[in-house]
Amino acid sequence: AIPLVVAINTSLAARNGMLVRDRIAMERARNLDTIIFDKTGTLTEGEHGVVASVTVGGVDENEALALAAAVEGDSEHMIARAIREAADDRGVETPASDGFEAMKGRGVRAVVDGNEVFVGGPNLLTHLDSAVPSDLQTFAEEAGENAQTVVYLVRAGEPIAAFAMADVIRGESYQVVDALHDLEVEVAMLTGDSQDVANAVATELGIDTVFAEVLPEDKDVTVQELQDQGKLVGMVGDGVNDAPALTRADVGIAIGSGTDVAVQSADVILVQNNPVDVARLVTLSKASYRKMQ
Ligand code: ADP
Ligand code: MG
Repeated sequence: AIPLVVAINTSLAARNGMLVRDRIAMERARNLDTIIFDKTGTLTEGEHGVVASVTVGGVDENEALALAAAVEGDSEHMIARAIREAADDRGVETPASDGFEAMKGRGVRAVVDGNEVFVGGPNLLTHLDSAVPSDLQTFAEEAGENAQTVVYLVRAGEPIAAFAMADVIRGESYQVVDALHDLEVEVAMLTGDSQDVANAVATELGIDTVFAEVLPEDKDVTVQELQDQGKLVGMVGDGVNDAPALTRADVGIAIGSGTDVAVQSADVILVQNNPVDVARLVTLSKASYRKMQ
């Protein structure tokens, strides 16, 4: 039989929009030292819009956008959606592409007009070992300082354009960082996005620790590293990319709008898709513990 106090707490949690998949994890939440948040789609809206672009070597801006939209044609990523929308808005015609390939946490690849073309972030450039022309570098630095995500267009091995995308920090993200600090829980952020963007968002929110440019397959390693320091770690995420980290964490928390994979990897699901519920979860766990003593 389920002990009465646990049953009560589980229904209390449910009434607060928390689906508890692992009751032991829910009880553990009261002792969390650090909670790591995924950035995109968790602390931010995850709805990007292209706000600026730059090209090199006399490449036409509309041509660059059309090429990028062609490569992003089959991607579900919000970056892809933003680029296709920008191309639509400008009424540019997207060329045909084939050989589409998604490179998790890096970007996308396709063949257009016989050229291999990539669109992706800093992790892609590292992977391709491409040197970034100074014009693009300056553009990326400025965008990064404004918390804008930059992706590069690489054609036949050469970076030829960059696009800056603005995402919006959710109002509730400010509240949850403050609330967790009041509960003496350290707040960290984990993202595949660039160090610049990550730092800008973290500074804005008052987040204590930043892990940026982390590949999807390494997100759980970050959790493990904190655990190796003796910390009890919570992880909050929404994406397929976050699943291994959610599993690895002492308390894995999925945000309600998240993908099925994230939801299935979590101990607790925040149905209302509100980051503030992360702090309420810790508070609820502390309150139940007191009752049990
Ligand atoms: P996060 O960890 O912030 O949720 P992802 O792991 O989904 O983000 O992506 C990490 C990075 O990989 C993005 O910031 C971007 O640089 C690059 N990326 C991923 N998918 C795409 C895509 N479809 N087009 C361009 N860049 C992409
Ligand atoms: Mg995400």
